[in-house]
Amino acid sequence: MSISTDSSATLTEPELSPELPMSRYDQLADQVLDGQPVSREEALAILDAPDTHVPAILAAGFKIRNRYFGRTVQMNFLMSAKSGLCPEDCSYCSQSKVSEAPVPKHNILKRDDLMKAAAQASEQGAKTYCLVISARGPSEREMKAVEEIVPEIKQKYDLDICACLGLLNKEQADRLKECGVNRVNHNLNTSETHYAEVCTTHTYADRVQTLKHVKAAGMEMCSGGIIGMDEKSDDIVSMAMDLRELGVHSIPLNFLESIDGTPFQGKSNLTPNKCLKALAMFRFVIPDKELRISGGREIHLRSLQPLGLYVANSMFVGDYLTTKGQAPDADRQMIEDLGFEITTKVE
Ligand code: SF4
Repeated sequence: MSISTDSSATLTEPELSPELPMSRYDQLADQVLDGQPVSREEALAILDAPDTHVPAILAAGFKIRNRYFGRTVQMNFLMSAKSGLCPEDCSYCSQSKVSEAPVPKHNILKRDDLMKAAAQASEQGAKTYCLVISARGPSEREMKAVEEIVPEIKQKYDLDICACLGLLNKEQADRLKECGVNRVNHNLNTSETHYAEVCTTHTYADRVQTLKHVKAAGMEMCSGGIIGMDEKSDDIVSMAMDLRELGVHSIPLNFLESIDGTPFQGKSNLTPNKCLKALAMFRFVIPDKELRISGGREIHLRSLQPLGLYVANSMFVGDYLTTKGQAPDADRQMIEDLGFEITTKVE
């Protein structure tokens, strides 16, 4: 599939995903490790496999993870530098103009607050400090604030900076690169076909274009999605295939937290096994890139959270933008119990 910037894509029938024999997952992992990408049909078969296949899928996925990342886990620290007040209508988001969820509303934080959070990120063993603002795209004032703070953080702490500022034009992407931003997060969120069910104020093509500006500027692209938004398996696979084609470096996979007051309040059809199959499918499709278990892991993976790390190699430490995460000590314990280790080295 090619990345289209034409938002008038037609609806397609979901493809059938015939069940694979249990022994096939291991062969698929070997095929991936030999450099042969999994096909769309194979990805669908992983995602739609019976729950009884999950142990075999995770064991095969772990072979791939182990090749590229060993037993390391990267930690990312999220900083909500500007909260609420967003003019967009993303239905999952508590900060959108259509959300009635009670979230903090503030303009971009002052230098001291951003530096304090950088110190916290460093203390908690994070490799990457993710600076996030709620916005369609950054204002000039927000761009200047980022340009001032990024060199100061990088001078004082051994942290990579990921900026999540919304849609960017070419000039803004170039300026972010210039001030020292390492990567930009801009999620595709779902498939092109499903996008209008999630957001109407901007398009999938707008998001793809921003990622292309980020790539052209020479920064890493961090882009993933949210599952559990009434999409079909076909949509999740389409998103994975598009992310592979774009060449993203880092993939955050979120599981919808249906926040009260948002249009997606009460929407959720995820099970822990479904989340594990989705994580594994991304590992098979994009074998050598950072795969991050992101928002919603505590709610949807529940007691199976540690199993996610057999295929994913990255997590957020601490809280999410407007929801609470597991305590950092519990995450550290989980990683230690698995026999894995936190790395501050860029993979
Ligand atoms: S653009 Fe970002 S902050 Fe704004 S509504 Fe969408 S997800 Fe939320």
